[in-house]
Amino acid sequence: METKQTLIKNGTLITAKDGSIKTVKNVSVLIENDKISEISDEISEAGVDKIIDGEGKIIMPSLINTHTHISMSLFRGLADDLKLNEWLKDHIWPMESKLDGEISYFGALLSNIEMIKSGTTTFNDMYFFMEDVTNATIESGIRGCLSSGMIDFGDEKKRKNEIKDALKLINYCKNKDRLKAFLGPHSPITVSEELLIETRKIADKYNTKIHIHVSETKKEVDDILDAKNMRPFQYLEDIGFLNDDVIAAHCVWLSDREIDIIKKHNVKVSHNPASNMKLASGISPVAKLLDKKVCLSVGTDGAASNNNLDMFEEIKIASLLQKVNTLNPKVLNAEEAFKSITINGAKTLGLENEIGSIEVGKKADIILVDTIIPNLTPNTNSLISHLIYSANGSNVDTTICNGEILMENKKLKVLNEQNIIEKVNDITQKLKN
Ligand SMILES: [Zn+2]
Repeated sequence: METKQTLIKNGTLITAKDGSIKTVKNVSVLIENDKISEISDEISEAGVDKIIDGEGKIIMPSLINTHTHISMSLFRGLADDLKLNEWLKDHIWPMESKLDGEISYFGALLSNIEMIKSGTTTFNDMYFFMEDVTNATIESGIRGCLSSGMIDFGDEKKRKNEIKDALKLINYCKNKDRLKAFLGPHSPITVSEELLIETRKIADKYNTKIHIHVSETKKEVDDILDAKNMRPFQYLEDIGFLNDDVIAAHCVWLSDREIDIIKKHNVKVSHNPASNMKLASGISPVAKLLDKKVCLSVGTDGAASNNNLDMFEEIKIASLLQKVNTLNPKVLNAEEAFKSITINGAKTLGLENEIGSIEVGKKADIILVDTIIPNLTPNTNSLISHLIYSANGSNVDTTICNGEILMENKKLKVLNEQNIIEKVNDITQKLKN
């Protein structure tokens, strides 16, 4: 195979390395095909196919969103200012009943464009019509960990169908570059004990991860306490469900004992602050989780409850929410925040040897962030502060995934943005009626 070389010249590199964040000025990064092959202040331009000027730009790992329902961007702004239960039952579920594969595909394409433009190139998704989401993601050029959302409410026939769909997706994603199929039991409240146990067996057999919502609302905890006489994580531990391959989204309502259970089994937590705030679900005890050294990453949740997929916005919200909740400005500081949207996201998805930091041998999943703009001025030595507290997704200038340039100088190089926006507007008109 012919080698394709891309050189990012003279930028400021910010990346997690050996547990801390390193900033290196005037550095160049050479990409060969899909991988980073050299990082140095002197890389020859000879034989390079493409040069990207990094002057005035931050070179950093592209962002990792560890909890999404990307097709739900179709429902953006259609049901706001509601509690989770009412939001789901009266608004989201009726619209979801009208979804089909083609509609979900366009919702996924819309989200993929939004993610590329705001610097995210890996997402962890749970929803329906996941083969169509897979196809959209292949076309978009980004990475997806995809799980078919399983809900059985104790119905045996449903359980069998959900498992069949999950296994089908594992098969569909097999040997597809940039894609992984996970298992997605929706939550301990919408999924029976039998299905949770079956999920654990399949995860062990196929060596795949499990993506689940846990303890998003107080009501959910109360319902499990009523049904099982245990809190959700105690219940999940009791039935042998927990392991280091479990990615638990939300984790808002946790007892101290449950935090110990999460740590003991090395469960990964995806924190979704904007969605938790918007649905008035509560505040996850992130400070306590960080104290116990739990692997914490960040997700936007679906755009119907956020209402966007901008990970720069999400991490600022995450950090500020913890500070005001604990009255301690040191909690979820800029370095910890940066790790949670890069390397910890990669660890959560089991991709830490491939992505999440800029190192020789890793996949070239890289973004360039413009710094010569008002909201990132002055040019201080503390660019990490600018990234966490001042930046937003529209400051991303260039997005690279797997060595491919998906956006350059803010111009999308994949997908037809205008067509997809028009198509989604048409679809959403129909879903509302
Ligand atoms: Zn969710």
